[in-house]
Amino acid sequence: MTQEKSSLFQTYARNPLALVKGEGSWLWDDQGNKYLDFMSGLAVTNLGHAPKKVGDKLKEQIDTLWHTSNLFVIPKQEEAASKLAEVAQADAVFFCNSGAESNEAAIKLARRYFQKVKGEDRYEIITLGKSFHGRTLATLTATGQDKVKEGFLPLPAGFVTVPPHDIQAIEQAVNGHTAAVMIEMVQAEGGVYPLDPEYARQIEQLCRDKGILLIVDEVQTGMGRTGAWFAHHRYGIKPDIFTVAKGIASGFPAGAMIGRAYLKEAFTAGSHATTFGGTPLASSAIIATIETMQEDRLPERAAEIGGLLMDKLRKRLHGNPFVKEVRGLGLLIGIECAEPVGELVLAGQQRGLLFVSAGPNVIRLLPNLYVTEEEVQQAVDIVASVIEEKVPTPSA
Ligand SMILES: *Cc1c(COP(=O)(O)O)cnc(C)c1O
Repeated sequence: MTQEKSSLFQTYARNPLALVKGEGSWLWDDQGNKYLDFMSGLAVTNLGHAPKKVGDKLKEQIDTLWHTSNLFVIPKQEEAASKLAEVAQADAVFFCNSGAESNEAAIKLARRYFQKVKGEDRYEIITLGKSFHGRTLATLTATGQDKVKEGFLPLPAGFVTVPPHDIQAIEQAVNGHTAAVMIEMVQAEGGVYPLDPEYARQIEQLCRDKGILLIVDEVQTGMGRTGAWFAHHRYGIKPDIFTVAKGIASGFPAGAMIGRAYLKEAFTAGSHATTFGGTPLASSAIIATIETMQEDRLPERAAEIGGLLMDKLRKRLHGNPFVKEVRGLGLLIGIECAEPVGELVLAGQQRGLLFVSAGPNVIRLLPNLYVTEEEVQQAVDIVASVIEEKVPTPSA
């Protein structure tokens, strides 16, 4: 379909591939070609495509009840919340429909906690350069990348962005109006930059010392992706609020904002709402996703197979002049290259492997959490071959 003919706003630089069927790690296009999927709909289909247990639960729910309204008790939503709180090691959950919306809820909760519970005029959120927090007005303002802000002025007040890995920059930015610091444990869209563990602990300590909240955006890193239920578990830090979306329901649209018990006091009846948050359908998909991940120990699996993928890539690409660094956490892996990687993404696709970039120069690999060793090997071979052909390794 040409751009002019399409009835869609052309907000996505779409690749002409039309994917029509998926199973596990594999996708098929409308011409019958098969692809190994190492992007998982951008960290969404963490259980692979069309996972049977989630599908069965959704079908059962479709025949029972789709939607009632949050003006009633929704038993499935209660169950989804208690399961999520358990695996998240946190206390309270607000369900919504996307990552941006979960971050909006986090920002609103931080402000409301100070303004209604503490009686303090705190509202400002400190975020990091290279971060990504979403595309709504508040979350694009929170995002530490100018490209998402162009043409959308005026931006909402109350956000300040500081350079990452500079604890003094945060210290200097904190003032009497600061409500929270908001971070990603691995800056994913920004180029797959895991935060240095010591820096992450310093941020946590600074938040405690200053009496402000720590918000962690786990929209991409959560739900087992980085080898723990949530990336901050691997870092051993304890945020006041964190957010989740992408992998939460295996591809059914859903998001959640998760917080500590003392914050319940700030989000009272009528303070925040969304029509579709935690419907019986979404909740069924969330419950089935969590149960499947528990049964098959998928976070542990992501740590293991992610380590294997990282090792194989590092060994295979070692000394390649086009590759600057291979980094990441669990199954969120970036290969930083010397030049833009757009061509390599297309070359991979022509060889039957789907992956995506993160910023101009970084190849990002996001396979599903069931990916096999054999599939890992196939992906490494294809990624390495497209890189090696880009810059032929000098002959010995
Ligand atoms: C994708 C993403 C978002 C935005 O999520 P949407 O569901 O697209 O609104 C926010 N934060 C991070 C870290 C993300 O990766």
